[in-house]
Amino acid sequence: MKEINTAHPLEEQCTEMAAILGLEEPVTEQVLLSALANPVYAHNLLVCRNAPEFMQQLLKNPPKIVAEEGVVPSTATLISNAAKSFARWAATGFSTVSNETYERRLSACDACPDLNVPPPKQGALYKMMGAKVDERKVCRKCGCVVSVKARRNTDTCPEPDPQRPGFNRWQEPIPG
Ligand code: SF4
Repeated sequence: MKEINTAHPLEEQCTEMAAILGLEEPVTEQVLLSALANPVYAHNLLVCRNAPEFMQQLLKNPPKIVAEEGVVPSTATLISNAAKSFARWAATGFSTVSNETYERRLSACDACPDLNVPPPKQGALYKMMGAKVDERKVCRKCGCVVSVKARRNTDTCPEPDPQRPGFNRWQEPIPG
């Protein structure tokens, strides 16, 4: 997979997402971040690759996740992690886990000491990605919004379960 340029991660990823969707022009930052936060929107973009009129409608109307005025995402690592997660997920056709797995993962996150509220300085960015500033929804270990991450079968929990060697906190095997 192509390396991500963390000096210009959003621009790189807008271009990369356009390539995934078969577009000549980069998608907007709002489209990219809405797709990161919203699996249904991402899926709809993917299935409309050969339907230009529907694609244009989707590109013009990303789900309303609005940044605070004047605040620009600034954390390269966070964006890079989100972008890498998105690229992995796109490669599987945006497939998602079952509801049962999703609920199990979220329950583990709810009980985890590493689940936190978004850092205040990154409030606008997290808001675009689906987490409100006063909600405990962000994993301190990877910086992901857990309700988004837990849906993707290409994502995993980065922390070993201290009670169960060889498994992470989601109770999924850690690759050897
Ligand atoms: S992904 Fe893992 S480490 Fe992060 S909050 Fe969830 S259970 Fe905790």
